[in-house]
Formats: sequence, C-alpha cells, structure tokens
Amino acid sequence: MAEQKKGDWRQLLKQLNTHIEALHHVATHDEKTGLYNSLFFRDLFEEELRRVRRKGYFSVVIADIDFFKKINDTYGHIVADKLLKKVADVLHCALRDYDILSRFGGEEFFILLPSTKLRGAGIIAERLRKAILKDKMLAKHNVTISLGVAEYKKRDNYQKLSHRADKALYVAKKQGRNRVALTK
Ligand code: GH3
Ligand code: MG
Ligand code: MG
Repeated sequence: MAEQKKGDWRQLLKQLNTHIEALHHVATHDEKTGLYNSLFFRDLFEEELRRVRRKGYFSVVIADIDFFKKINDTYGHIVADKLLKKVADVLHCALRDYDILSRFGGEEFFILLPSTKLRGAGIIAERLRKAILKDKMLAKHNVTISLGVAEYKKRDNYQKLSHRADKALYVAKKQGRNRVALTK
C-alpha cells in the first residue's frame, strides 16, 4: 500500500515537471519560428552584459528580411510565414552552438555573438547573408536579408547597443539591401 502511494506521488511529480517544462518553453520561445522570443533574449542579453562587464567582449547582429511586405503581397501570408520559418532555420544552422538567436519582431532577428569582436561579427554576418542566398526555397522566392552589426563597448546597455546595430541595419538598407553594415 505504502509502495503504491510512493509510486503515485512519483507519477504526479513527473507529470508536474513535464507541465513546468512545457510552460517554460511557451514562455521563452516564439511560436512561429521556434526561436527564443524577445523577452527571453533580453534575459540572456543582460546575463552576457554582467559577464563581459568584468572581462570580455561580444557583438550583436540585427538581421531583417528585405522587402518582406512585398513578399507577403506576391506570395500570400501562408507562404510568407513558411519563408520566415525557413530564414529562422537557415540562420540557426549557420550560427555556432553558443550564439543566441531570437526573433526580434515581425521579420527581424536579433543575434548575440559571445566572445566576438566587430571584425569577426562582420564575417559571421556575411556568412549568414550568403547562407540565405544559398538556400533553394529562399532563392526561388528572392528572399534576401540585410544585417547591422555592433560590438559591445564599455558602459553600453541593451538600448545603446541595439540602437547602434539598428543604425547599421538602416545603412545596409539604404545602400541597397542584401548586405552587411558595421558600426564603428
Ligand atoms: P525593408 O526591406 O525595408 O525591411 O522592407 P520590408 O517590407 O521588409 O519592411 P516593412 O517594415 O515595411 O514591412 C515588414 C512586413 O513584414 C510587414 C508585414 O506584412 C510583414 N510581417 C511581419 N511579421 C510577419 C509575420 O509574422 N508573418 C508574415 N507573413 N509577415 C509578417
Ligand atoms: Mg524588412
Ligand atoms: Mg523590419
């Protein structure tokens, strides 16, 4: 009898853990792309800030799909959603295990590259841009991305650093899209 009760408790605890894990996943991930959501990304960002404030460096990249509005108009919402997911998958595959990739907004991705200086981050961003061009499904639909890159500087916070990356992205867009721009 006592053994059976113990077994029941174990079963209940197991179920509870499964529910907690599922809830945690929902709270930290973006439904459409399966990537981290911006809220959880922000937590990880603050963690990285705390780490490098003592010693180290990192960079961030904002990637934005070019003319995604037009892609929606041309192929429709459902295909556009599939292309969005495909972009997320290609970026994920082209990054290193320890890089942090999140969906930032509609068709924007925010990437944190730990222990990476500006030059290295520029090379990685270029690799991401090329990976998108190489994908058959994305190439067929003329999907390209523009990327803005910025390196953490002393006394940066989330706002300052993301603003610099955003400014670089704006330059990449202005220069004709499908390219990488770095902030100084
Ligand atoms: P740009 O090259 O300047 O970035 O042009 P753009 O059209 O990509 O930029 P804009 O900000 O004007 O439009 C973004 C569009 O992305 C608007 C919206 O229709 C589309 N979009 C945003 N989120 C989603 C989504 O989850 N699914 C789909 N299908 N479309 C989305
Ligand atoms: Mg866009
Ligand atoms: Mg955008």
